[in-house]
Amino acid sequence: TFRILHGSRDLAFALVGTTQQFGMIAETLRVIGPRHAVADAPAARELAPMGGSIDFENVSFAYADGRTVFRNFTLHVPAGQRIGVVGPSGAGKSTLVGLLQRLDDPQAGRVLFDGQPLTAVTQDSLRAAIAVVPQEIALFHRSVLENIRYGRPDATDEQVREAAHAARCDDFIQALPEGYDTLVGERGIKLSGGQRQRIGIARAILKDAPIIVLDEATSALDSHSEEEVQRALERLIHGRTVLAVAHRLSTLSGFDRIVVLKDGRIIEDGPPSDLHARGGAFHALWRMQARGLAEDTITRRAG
Ligand code: ATP
Repeated sequence: TFRILHGSRDLAFALVGTTQQFGMIAETLRVIGPRHAVADAPAARELAPMGGSIDFENVSFAYADGRTVFRNFTLHVPAGQRIGVVGPSGAGKSTLVGLLQRLDDPQAGRVLFDGQPLTAVTQDSLRAAIAVVPQEIALFHRSVLENIRYGRPDATDEQVREAAHAARCDDFIQALPEGYDTLVGERGIKLSGGQRQRIGIARAILKDAPIIVLDEATSALDSHSEEEVQRALERLIHGRTVLAVAHRLSTLSGFDRIVVLKDGRIIEDGPPSDLHARGGAFHALWRMQARGLAEDTITRRAG
C-alpha cells in the first residue's frame, strides 16, 4: 500500500495484481494531476462561487529553492473577463496559474476567488470551481467516453456526448474503430495533439465551472487542427471568466484584455487593440507570429 496526499484527501492504493493493473494505477495518478503542497485550514469553508472574479493582492512568491517569481504583484480580473497572459519564458505565467489553483501559497499577499481568500476555502470546492485545460492532456487506458466523463464523473452518457459534440470531438470519435467505446491512452489508439486538446476541452465543458484556465501547449498545430481547437475553445469560454496562458496569439482573438508579464511584473496591460496601438512588446509578438516564425523563437524574443 502507498499513500499520496491529494488536497485534503489521503488516497491509499493497494498495489496487488499484474503489471498492467499497476500501469493503470500509475495512469490514474497522472490524470489526478499535480501534487498539492498545501492543506485545508481547520475552519476551511466551501467556496461559494458567484461570477468568477480573481484577485492577486500584493502577492509575493518564491519557490522553495529561493527563487522569487512575484514581488508585490497585484492583478484584478472581473467576473466574466477573458484575459490572456503572455510573456517570455520564465516570466511567471505558469506560476500565476498555479497560485490561482492553490498549488502553492504565496509568502505574502492573498489570492482571492469571488472575494474569498483561497486559504479560507476547501481545496475540493476550489478545484470544482476551476476547469483547467492543461498543456498535456493525460488519457487513461479506457474508452474515449470514459476519458471525457473524467471532467464530471456523474455525467450521463448523453451529457458526455453533448460535451464531445460542443468540443468538436464528435466527428473524429465517430470515425474511430469502435466510436465512443474505442480504447485510448498508452496502449490504446493514439490521438493527435489537436484531438487530445479537444478531449481536454470536452472535459472542461462537461465540468461547467465558472473559471476556465487555459494553459496552452507550445507545440504548433496544423491549420485545420488549430481551427477546430479554436472553435471548441470558443464554445468552452462563452460566458465565463478565462485566464489563458497563450502561445498562439490567435487563441486570444476576441479576448478583453492582455497582460504581458516579464520577470514577474506586468509590463503591458490592456485591450488587445490598445496594445497594438501602443506598438510595444505585445505588438512585436503579434507581428513576429504573423510572419510565421517558430513559436519557441517568439517566446524567447518576447522580452
Ligand atoms: P514558460 O513560458 O517557459 O512556461 P513561465 O512564464 O510559465 O515560463 P514559470 O514556469 O512560472 O514561467 O517560471 C517562473 C520562474 O520560476 C522561472 O525562473 C522558473 O525557473 C522558476 N520555477 C518554475 N517552476 C519552479 C519550481 N517548481 N521550482 C523552482 N523554480 C521554479
